[in-house]
Amino acid sequence: MGYADTHAHIHFPKFRNDVDDVVKRFKETGGRFLLNIGVNVEDSKTALRYAKRYGFKAAVGIHPHDSKNSGEHFLEELQRLIEDEDVVALGECGLDYYRNISPKDIQRDIFQSQIDLAAMFNIPLVVHIRDAYEDAYEILSKSQLPDPPGVIHAFSADKEWALKFVKLGFFLGIGGPVTYPKNSYLREAVKTVGLKNILTETDSPYLPPQRFRGRRNEPSYVRFVIEKLAELFGMTYEEVSNITLENALEVFGG
Ligand SMILES: [Zn+2]
Repeated sequence: MGYADTHAHIHFPKFRNDVDDVVKRFKETGGRFLLNIGVNVEDSKTALRYAKRYGFKAAVGIHPHDSKNSGEHFLEELQRLIEDEDVVALGECGLDYYRNISPKDIQRDIFQSQIDLAAMFNIPLVVHIRDAYEDAYEILSKSQLPDPPGVIHAFSADKEWALKFVKLGFFLGIGGPVTYPKNSYLREAVKTVGLKNILTETDSPYLPPQRFRGRRNEPSYVRFVIEKLAELFGMTYEEVSNITLENALEVFGG
């Protein structure tokens, strides 16, 4: 067995000089599944190309920041990309009211149309939510969802929200922030929903675990997230990595 990084952007410029080494470290330390994520149409094509190069899988979608520049034909483009056997999820899509780089109403429209596309093709969603849990929940709970619905990536709310999204069928994507000393609310949420509802992720190059804060994150650092989860659940590293890898394969296929 081994471990999974269900959210990385290995095609981003921060990896330009050493992506081969980054992937090698991931594979040599037990990395078995990686989902490489696009944030707009062009970026999704690049994400898929890198996924194929390294034997990984890809997610294609329009990030909330990119909503206002999604382009006229983004749905047709995403639909075409979904037909590729290495595209196993739609995203990242969602709502980000923290930075509001795109207007809220546009974010909601673009999110809704991607949910509908995912339901139509029954492909799981990779959902990004920041400072928008109310609206995102309202939209998702009123929509027809794919089965399984997918993941709330970089989940960062309390245990009540955790339970609500798990009840809709979503997994919670847990990464570096679970290791930050001040995030006890997040550790409590994770313990409340249990390991069966957790996917491990990095969001590389962002959100590094505590010991690498201020530096670039990379997929092999999922190990430090697994270590923290093992500590929280009183389990071994191997048990946690195997269970969370199985969860990833259950949602995104092998
Ligand atoms: Zn991301």
